[in-house]
Amino acid sequence: MRENGILVSRTLAEVGKTVAPGVTTLELNRVAETFIRDHGAIPSFLGYEGFPAALCISVNDVVVHGFPSDYVLREGDIVSVDCGTLYKGYNGDSAYTFPVGEVDAETRKLLDVTKASLYEGIAAAVAGNRTGDIGHAVQTYAESFGFSVVRELEGHGIGREMHELPGVPNYGKAGKGTKLVDGMTICIEPMINAGNRGVYLARNGWAVHTADHRNSAHYELTVVVRKGHAELLSTFDYIENI
Ligand code: MG
Ligand code: MG
Repeated sequence: MRENGILVSRTLAEVGKTVAPGVTTLELNRVAETFIRDHGAIPSFLGYEGFPAALCISVNDVVVHGFPSDYVLREGDIVSVDCGTLYKGYNGDSAYTFPVGEVDAETRKLLDVTKASLYEGIAAAVAGNRTGDIGHAVQTYAESFGFSVVRELEGHGIGREMHELPGVPNYGKAGKGTKLVDGMTICIEPMINAGNRGVYLARNGWAVHTADHRNSAHYELTVVVRKGHAELLSTFDYIENI
């Protein structure tokens, strides 16, 4: 799981090096798939319930599960990249929303708050707490900035399967939900909207859009629940040290 966390983190950093105005989202997918396979791993999203690519790439008002395409990234866009790797029989899963060139101040704030809300959730991911403590921490933080939490999708346990129990919602009541146990590996992945929380599913059955077509951001890390504080398996350090 640790090796996988590093691999998925480094893959996202390779994608981050490629994000720029003028680049297609298919090119980002190619970079990731090549990097994953070059390291002896399998892109676990490819073929998952029929998903057609190695990455979920979700631009601007797409929350998650966008298909890579010939869309050309433009200055001011945001692009959420979600990546899964299967390596030595275990799964890694991580996501990051990249600004394309310079973004406006409101969008920069959405990115910063969404990422910070993830760390608020991780701080609550300690043995003896419950999944509701994570959701409550994420929700309280994100909503304090006037943003809204997508409720139709959630984090999850991870291990031999990419999606395991428990579900890890990004909203909820402290003290409710599944008890967190030392050694449990989970993905925490807030999806935060600039506007209202409403979403709809595109006709392709995959891409989730904001109903008001305002931007949405998504950050995800894989962590191990521990006593006192969670241990990160994936990390944004490779991305942010570029
Ligand atoms: Mg993911
Ligand atoms: Mg996930």
